[in-house]
Amino acid sequence: MARINPGFTKELKSFGAFDVNACYNCGNCTAVCSLSDEDNSFPRKMVRLSVLGLDNEIKTSLEPWLCYYCGECSMTCPREAEPGELMMSLRRWLIAGYDWTGLSGLLYRSLSATLTAFVLLVAGVIWFAAAQDFSIESLLHTGHYFEMFAIAGVFTFILLPNIFRMWLFTVHDKNVKIPVKTYFKTLGELFVHMFTQKRTLGCDDSKTRWLEHLILVISYLMLLFTTVFLDWFGTQNPFIIAIGYIESAAIFIITMLFVTERFRKKTEVSKHSHPSDWLFVVWLSLMGLTAFFVRLFIDMDILENNVWLYIVHLIILVQWALIIVPFGKWTHFLYRSFAMWFLRLKK
Ligand code: SF4
Ligand code: SF4
Repeated sequence: MARINPGFTKELKSFGAFDVNACYNCGNCTAVCSLSDEDNSFPRKMVRLSVLGLDNEIKTSLEPWLCYYCGECSMTCPREAEPGELMMSLRRWLIAGYDWTGLSGLLYRSLSATLTAFVLLVAGVIWFAAAQDFSIESLLHTGHYFEMFAIAGVFTFILLPNIFRMWLFTVHDKNVKIPVKTYFKTLGELFVHMFTQKRTLGCDDSKTRWLEHLILVISYLMLLFTTVFLDWFGTQNPFIIAIGYIESAAIFIITMLFVTERFRKKTEVSKHSHPSDWLFVVWLSLMGLTAFFVRLFIDMDILENNVWLYIVHLIILVQWALIIVPFGKWTHFLYRSFAMWFLRLKK
């Protein structure tokens, strides 16, 4: 028999802004959703499961990841139940459930916990810089190695086990064996969705949004590669230097467009901004901006007299790598792509 969690909608409320109890089950939302189909019909089903407190059914479902938040359903809901925002809240709730450390749930629910974590990292970086006598050479060296080890550590100890848990909840079934070769045969699905996010194009009027996201994903991944593997801050190669400038500028410009959109609240997508949404766009924007100026100061030979700039960049980098990437909105990028692969496997 299905387990019922009577406090589920209350629990879910701390992950977003919606009013599922207003829903009278008309089905308009599902009818207008261009990503919903016979096999995966949403968002009404998710609204019903939430109202009924069937949290286990939601935990084992991939449907919240199939919604790309165009907001069409919220605009047409006659009861203003905000089904699009419910889908977004379910994704945050799922992220908290996949995360074995429990930190995602804590940070999503508590702004004060998030701010405390941010402040602690500020103190940690300043303490470290002071211990290095604010030597720019030593700080640049540490920053470079921090990026490498942070990527490897976060991926190995947090993201990989969380993806395994997602697989356990959504794909694993004792009675159905998926052959190993099927995993390999369908693996392309994961990378195609990870790099192109092409499912966004299925939403109406989404070409600009898709293009902005595509530029952002490519610039972000390339800047990561340029700084970690091509040592952007240390290189003298003019081609690598120029590429880094373009990537960091692109990140700053696109994220500033997103920040402006969230301030203006003109679209459904930007109407409700959770603190995790703000942190994601603002920190990514600051990363692009500070990286750009650090390299510019190196080229102008004035970074040594402005160590504070690199310390600010390092603080943003550390907060990004240790909070936003493993526990915040960044994980959407990962889980969405895995959801598409898992869906293909289940089929
Ligand atoms: S459109 Fe609104 S009221 Fe109708 S089923 Fe969807 S959420 Fe409920
Ligand atoms: S926000 Fe858009 S994609 Fe998501 S359920 Fe609503 S209509 Fe579908």
